[in-house]
Amino acid sequence: MAKNNDRDIHCSFCGISKNEAQMLIAGNGAHICDRCIQQAGEILAEELKQRKSKTLQTALKLIRPQEIKTHLDQYVIGQDDAKKVISVAVYNHYKRLNQKVDKDEIEIEKSNLIIVGETGTGKTLLAKTVAKILNVPFCIVDATVLTEAGYVGEDVESILTRLLQAADYDVAAAERGIIYIDEIDKIARKSDNPSITRDVSGEGVQQALLKILEGTVVNVPPQGGRKHPDQKMIAVNTSNILFICGGAFDGIQKKIANRLRTQTVGYKMNEDEEEIDLNNLYKYITPQDLKNFGLIPELIGRLPVLTYLNPLDKGTLLSILTEPKNALVKQYKKLFEYEGIDLKFDPEVYTFIVDKADEFKLGARGLRSICEAIMLDAMFEIPSTKEQTGQKALEITLDYAKKKFEKSDLKKLKVA
Ligand code: ADP
Repeated sequence: MAKNNDRDIHCSFCGISKNEAQMLIAGNGAHICDRCIQQAGEILAEELKQRKSKTLQTALKLIRPQEIKTHLDQYVIGQDDAKKVISVAVYNHYKRLNQKVDKDEIEIEKSNLIIVGETGTGKTLLAKTVAKILNVPFCIVDATVLTEAGYVGEDVESILTRLLQAADYDVAAAERGIIYIDEIDKIARKSDNPSITRDVSGEGVQQALLKILEGTVVNVPPQGGRKHPDQKMIAVNTSNILFICGGAFDGIQKKIANRLRTQTVGYKMNEDEEEIDLNNLYKYITPQDLKNFGLIPELIGRLPVLTYLNPLDKGTLLSILTEPKNALVKQYKKLFEYEGIDLKFDPEVYTFIVDKADEFKLGARGLRSICEAIMLDAMFEIPSTKEQTGQKALEITLDYAKKKFEKSDLKKLKVA
């Protein structure tokens, strides 16, 4: 009896009977079989993906260089030169993406970037913020872990696996993403003399990066790791991926200084020429300096936009601590707000934190560790004690901050 009934019930989409289907789900006066559900799911996923790409395209068109910079200003303090250069490069890059290239049209080249600046001055933050503004997939990779294919370490292709993962395996989205390659200076050529041992983590990696930076189709292992024959690969076209490389290039200042000195000796110093700022030689960096440092010319050629970051002085550190949209101080206030506590800092505490970060040569990254050291006890105790004590506010005074800092392990970090 039941069998007969089953034969009478059909999928309202493909007509298959309940008997034949693995599963039939009943709705309001209709049924759907497992196969139709699966197919509908696939159609939906594809449609959503296309819509996402379309929104991406329209969104990208709207963001002009000045708007990009205004957004960057909310998160990154100072570094105006770099922000301007990056805003234009990113805008041009996405303009290029929307370009329909026909035969006669001038093809716009990729504007991959290289940012030079001391550690902790905001290189990663800039790249990350740009990706956030544009709403494109973004990943950070460390050049130091990369080695030439076949050697211990990660293949260069692994950076694309990271981007795919960041894009949730949406290949179309990943192909318009941004990859930040940190510590690019660490893959500089080890020496000018061709040595007996291959330079597999230096020049070898630079060579391997060339094609990817320029634009090629790479078969990427979706889960990372070494390629092996049984693994299913995903083809990723890197032509529209924007690469931003960053590095501190320790010691490059000397090379820049040398170059500037020889230039000034060679040419008569102009009276009204700007005086050279010896505290910030990065400002004068040229592709030639990168070559002298050990980047190969082919790699430099594929990173046509070069910019620099200024070292952070105390004033900038203070601004970083208090001003950006997600400034550290604002984050702590928010954390305490969740506890129903109004957190206030005495202004001298800010100066204390900045002085310590500067004294310990910890840069902007140090601000966070110092704040943690000061705030840890309060964050540990107050959630449990606030009900008994009825505490509604917390004021961090200079004395309190000093005491907590002295108690922490941080002071041992002092750089001689
Ligand atoms: P880098 O990549 O240059 O080594 P990061 O971008 O990782 O440095 O910066 C480290 C941290 O310092 C960031 O998380 C950010 O909070 C802070 N920071 C550095 N520079 C700035 C800046 N110019 N404006 C705001 N915050 C900054």
